[in-house]
Amino acid sequence: MPTRHSLVTGANRGLGLEFVRQLLARGDRVVAACRHPGKASALNQLTGQHPGRLHVLPLDVADPKAHAELAKELDLLGDGEHYRLGLLVNNAGVLHSGERFGRVSAAHLEDSFRTNAMGPFLLTQALADKLADGAKVANITSELGSIAGLGRFGTPSYNISKAALNMAGALLAKALAERGIAVAMLHPGWAQTDMGGDNASLPVAESVQGLLRVIDALTPKQSGSYLDWQGQTLPW
Ligand code: NDP
Repeated sequence: MPTRHSLVTGANRGLGLEFVRQLLARGDRVVAACRHPGKASALNQLTGQHPGRLHVLPLDVADPKAHAELAKELDLLGDGEHYRLGLLVNNAGVLHSGERFGRVSAAHLEDSFRTNAMGPFLLTQALADKLADGAKVANITSELGSIAGLGRFGTPSYNISKAALNMAGALLAKALAERGIAVAMLHPGWAQTDMGGDNASLPVAESVQGLLRVIDALTPKQSGSYLDWQGQTLPW
């Protein structure tokens, strides 16, 4: 089988970095996209350990111009052939914690929407012609984007943007269906990252192992599904 090309956004820390580690361990060629490659020390160390298989490229997912730049950079990685992506992991995300009703700001809402919903949608659109037929797109969402599963008041900028991401992914699933590309919305569990915080229970490696298993098992027929890291269906 030819080597798969994978791309992970927000790859410099947290779940994104672990995706890169595990995809490299599986033998993929990986593009690790992050805002500041020069400061991404863990990724740059990995580059040395996997010469030619890991490329660290700049990407602010909230900036559509950066999507076009990234698309151009990917063409250069094609070795004269059309660059074909087998897996796109839209992982980058932001959470503005501590919001209180009455004081939820337009700035938080806008930043969260641009990063968590608009970014994955527009990036996937910009890279669509580089996705191989039968490729997979994993949108790392959250159970906090579930309207049916809504518990307490929560963090509106995050909840709203992840609900929007879920719709963005459902639309991408429709748009890419005729090429056999499967799109999934995946909740990683409460994972031990900067975003997950001190009380998170799930080790990052376990979360990503689970997510990759779910991605492996995903068929075009299941495209548009909303699943957690163990493959359980979540209510919209
Ligand atoms: P972290 O806060 O640890 O990491 C977030 C990553 O996203 C960082 O690499 C960060 O880059 C990047 N990022 C943020 N904004 C942008 C942007 N505009 N452009 C590019 N990269 C950006 O979070 P996690 O690893 O925990 O989260 C990964 C994904 O999983 C997110 O989508 C999150 O919503 C989701 N998730 C996480 C849960 C958890 O318990 N951890 C639970 C549910 C969902 P930088 O270093 O430059 O800030």
